[in-house]
Amino acid sequence: MKKQIVVIGLGRFGSSVCKELYGMGHDIMAIDSNPETVSTMSDYASHTATADATDEGSLKSLGVRNFEYAIVAIGDDLQASVLCTLMLKELGVPKVWVKARDQQHQKILERIGADRVIQPEYEMGVRTAHHIDSEKVVDYINLSENYSIIELAASDKVIGKTLGSLNIRKDYGCMILAIKHGEDVNIAPLLEDSIEDGDILIAMGHKDDLKRFEDKGL
Ligand code: ATP
Ligand code: ATP
Ligand code: CA
Repeated sequence: MKKQIVVIGLGRFGSSVCKELYGMGHDIMAIDSNPETVSTMSDYASHTATADATDEGSLKSLGVRNFEYAIVAIGDDLQASVLCTLMLKELGVPKVWVKARDQQHQKILERIGADRVIQPEYEMGVRTAHHIDSEKVVDYINLSENYSIIELAASDKVIGKTLGSLNIRKDYGCMILAIKHGEDVNIAPLLEDSIEDGDILIAMGHKDDLKRFEDKGL
């Protein structure tokens, strides 16, 4: 489904969000106060505009209220980020996602109605730490404080074995949701399916159980 998205602030974060979404075929309006920055994005957005995103009149005349999503990616100017977010919510944009530079900024944005707040440096730092802690963990998603879905690289311990013979559910309390094999994904693995070299296991469970599986089972 094609989405209508306005991206405000085309720094490193905003421009990468913009390019990626445009590449996926979505309808993107890219806005920045710096005309040079705007011109670099002309090939990566459906529409571009040079405007001060804290000016309500500009936002209105650009028709920002008709967009389903707004991404506010102004990090350094806290006042501009907050003001712009507030106006987007007042104009009735249903989903306003905002980049924050720190915890304090995040708190303010949540209070004034941001639908989602992203702290890229912080979040990427946490992710990097997990990758270093376990080189087996390819990626992970937190479902809640205690439960996650993680992607684990198959090790020699499991290569050539069937899921059934590994008893993962019984011994570790985790579920193997899928097995990635190159570009193929086996999304409903059976007990008789065997794990091959280079496979990635997608496992769901309690963090402690996943950790145990990763340490002892792999
Ligand atoms: P990065 O994503 O590179 O980390 P950042 O979070 O450090 O960015 P800035 O560099 O301060 O944030 O701003 C990102 C972009 O937002 C810049 O291109 C800047 O010109 C633009 N910008 C800043 N203030 C406004 C504003 N009031 N209206 C529109 N664009 C703005
Ligand atoms: P962030 O991760 O917050 O985006 P950044 O990429 O903007 O950071 P800086 O804020 O410039 O980078 O630097 C990060 C940290 O590195 C700071 O705490 C700074 O004091 C430290 N730092 C910068 N230069 C040096 C140096 N030559 N030696 C040791 N530490 C340094
Ligand atoms: Ca910056």
